[in-house]
Amino acid sequence: MADIEKNEIIISDSKQVMCEGNRQASGHPRVYLKMDDSGKVTCPYCSRIFQLKSQD
Ligand SMILES: [Zn+2]
Repeated sequence: MADIEKNEIIISDSKQVMCEGNRQASGHPRVYLKMDDSGKVTCPYCSRIFQLKSQD
C-alpha cells in the first residue's frame, strides 16, 4: 500500500551532503556527495536526489 518514491528529493543548504540510504529501504555505506554547479547530485547507491536550497 505504501507508495515508495524512487527518486526522493532532499533539500540541503550545503553543497556537501551525506547519505546512508533510506531507512525504509535498504541502507548503504555512508557516502559523502558533492553537488555540481547546477546544485544537484544523485546518490549512486539509492538514487535519491539532493538539491541545493535556493538562497535569496
Ligand atoms: Zn544514498
